Amino acid sequence: RVRTRFAPSPTGYMHIGNLRTALYGYLYAKAQKGDFILRIEDTDRTRYVADAVDFINRTLELAKIVPDEGPDIGGDCGPYIQSERMDIYKKYAEELVASGHAYYCFCDPDEDHSVGQFGGYDRTCRDLPQEVIDEHLKNGDPYVIRQKMPLSGETTFFDVLHGNITIPNEELEDQVLLKRDGMPTYNFANVIDDHLMGITHIMRGAEFITSTPKYNLLYQAYGWETPTFIHLAPVMGKNEDGSVSKLSKRHGATSFDDLVNMGYLPEAIVNYVALLGWNPKTTNQEIFSMDELIAHFSLEGLSKSPAVFDYDKLGWINGEYFKAMDDAVFAKKAHDFAGSLPDYLEANWESLAALLKTRLTRFGEIADEISFLIDMPAFDAELYVNKRNKVTVEKAVELLPTLIELIEKVDESEWNNDSLYAKLEAFIEEKELKKGLVMWVLRIAVAGQKVTPGGATELLALLGKKISLERLKKSLA
Ligand code: GLU
Repeated sequence: RVRTRFAPSPTGYMHIGNLRTALYGYLYAKAQKGDFILRIEDTDRTRYVADAVDFINRTLELAKIVPDEGPDIGGDCGPYIQSERMDIYKKYAEELVASGHAYYCFCDPDEDHSVGQFGGYDRTCRDLPQEVIDEHLKNGDPYVIRQKMPLSGETTFFDVLHGNITIPNEELEDQVLLKRDGMPTYNFANVIDDHLMGITHIMRGAEFITSTPKYNLLYQAYGWETPTFIHLAPVMGKNEDGSVSKLSKRHGATSFDDLVNMGYLPEAIVNYVALLGWNPKTTNQEIFSMDELIAHFSLEGLSKSPAVFDYDKLGWINGEYFKAMDDAVFAKKAHDFAGSLPDYLEANWESLAALLKTRLTRFGEIADEISFLIDMPAFDAELYVNKRNKVTVEKAVELLPTLIELIEKVDESEWNNDSLYAKLEAFIEEKELKKGLVMWVLRIAVAGQKVTPGGATELLALLGKKISLERLKKSLA
């Protein structure tokens, strides 16, 4: 049975690359009818952030990535928080010492014991006589437990994306497995936990490739079967000069939360993130529900080259999700991003939201999109000039008073898009005018800008009679 895991450190922050790792682990497990496990890696206490576990849970919930086992869910392989598994690590570390694959190191941390090209530990304690070790232990001297690396030969492991990777053993440091305070290092705990939790496929960032030979040697030392390794390429951001580098703050948003706060829908983010380094091979489809992702997901579709985060693509995908949304649901969510609105927009929010729905790439654009409806932009008669509709400033100024006269006669009870439109159409026919010309002049006069959500009559309807006429008269002056 396939078992994958997501093993975040509780930092209170979900980098897009981490979200992707979680997502791929989840998709693969679900595609294979297996289990997806959440494990919290909090052995590095300096990084512990209170409430960070809640944060991880909330993020996964929002992303609809649902673990089968984990801290709050339970399961047969718990506890799922590393700091609650201390005696397990201790026991396994002692076992390695007994089998000769690890050793006690009593070196003073304040003394310099680094050596060689790679700055590794100089192995002072690697071959201490048993009496010396016993003496230290009897005195209660503090120690760390170090992994005893082979001094020659090489270690090879297989990675699904990168094939066989071989590292000369002399490059491997006798790394610390158990620290002075009894805490395991990440490099030790992950192996113990992945084994005890029955993890079959390990997906993690490519930055772990160089550590994997050490993990492999640990699996071998215990006589455990090694899991399948899949090292994912990093998510990159585009720099101003066109080059790319690992996605970081300077590229803007780097976390799932950042994107949600910018007004992208969680499901659209997940859809986009799935495609950052994976493609479904058998289809050109780009919009995927979670169930569809599960149905299409396979390891063969993973890419080993880095993917570049592309806001345009995310915006396009998000826009597609907006279009597919129920109008009322969209209006409600969009409202949260609209800020405080004047009464007339509050009252007409559903109609305004319907106009925005097909235009936005994210909710965060709303304020800019609607600001002209709240404050009339400084008016410039040059805005009237439009070649396609053959509008000149003179023509517009000549036409506007008649339009104002017509509109002034429309009763409040008929002040809606349909009636306004019908009245204007009748007027256009009667005066044998061009519809494009009339609508353009009216829209510019009431909006004070060329690009608007909705046409002239929709804007009049939104603004209401009083404000519309104020604006039209102002544009005349
Ligand atoms: N705790 C590690 C991290 O957050 C997890 C790496 C792994 O997946 O093994 O970077």
